[in-house]
Amino acid sequence: MLKIDNLHAEIGGKEILKGLSLELNAGEVHAIMGPNGAGKSTLSYVLGGRPGYEVTAGSVIYNGEDLLAMDPHLRAAAGFFLGFQYPVEIPGVSNVQFLREALNSQRRVRGEDPLTGGEFLKLAKEKAALLKLDMEMLKRFVNVGFSGGEKKRNEMVQMGILDPKLAVLDETDSGLDIDALKVVGEGINAIMRRPDKAVLLITHYQRLLDYVKPDYVHILAAGRIVKSGGADLAHRLEEEGYDEVMAA
Ligand code: ADP
Ligand code: MG
Ligand code: MG
Repeated sequence: MLKIDNLHAEIGGKEILKGLSLELNAGEVHAIMGPNGAGKSTLSYVLGGRPGYEVTAGSVIYNGEDLLAMDPHLRAAAGFFLGFQYPVEIPGVSNVQFLREALNSQRRVRGEDPLTGGEFLKLAKEKAALLKLDMEMLKRFVNVGFSGGEKKRNEMVQMGILDPKLAVLDETDSGLDIDALKVVGEGINAIMRRPDKAVLLITHYQRLLDYVKPDYVHILAAGRIVKSGGADLAHRLEEEGYDEVMAA
């Protein structure tokens, strides 16, 4: 589904990703862990097509297509979803308006009929219930005044509605209390744990991985994947720390 090969990328002339390679198949959940400043968010921004990030070498193939050559809105329409470490607030636009427009613009690109207001609300209610987010929250402006946990739940509702094939989730667990963590973890499983989907979960902590069990865990340090293993690698990191595990 996703093949990243020898990816080099820079911001403002400074090289951040230095030859990163990674492969994900449909049906798999991969976790990326790594010290602060390793380039984890940079990787997610490059995959999402954020301006200002320049790819200087390497390739990213998504379902047989050159992902880096696609416009960000085409990436989304092709089933690529990016969850942000810091979700944006959009004053003046309600979640319902925002999500219906996002979904329908993706559907148009794919040649599918847009959903009517009624059809969309039915879908939104279903996904909000799954993530235990009050429907009233969806009527409010996007993320404005939301707590950290509410923003993350809201982001998972977005993911449920857009129903992507590949989700890259950057520190979706940051700022979550135990209850919210469980809801978000179970939401990721309910939406994405399917044979035709894949997840790249970027996280600092083992705890989210108790709910969303990864098939593979990778350590990203100084712009490259320096070690890969199974779910046990995350436990070792938690117990021993990065320096010890990377030296082993
Ligand atoms: P992580 O998510 O792993 O903590 P980041 O990808 O956010 O790491 O950052 C990787 C490196 O890139 C850090 O050294 C950071 O300071 C640098 N960096 C991030 N954004 C910018 C920017 N806009 N301009 C210059 N350097 C940046
Ligand atoms: Mg960071
Ligand atoms: Mg980060």
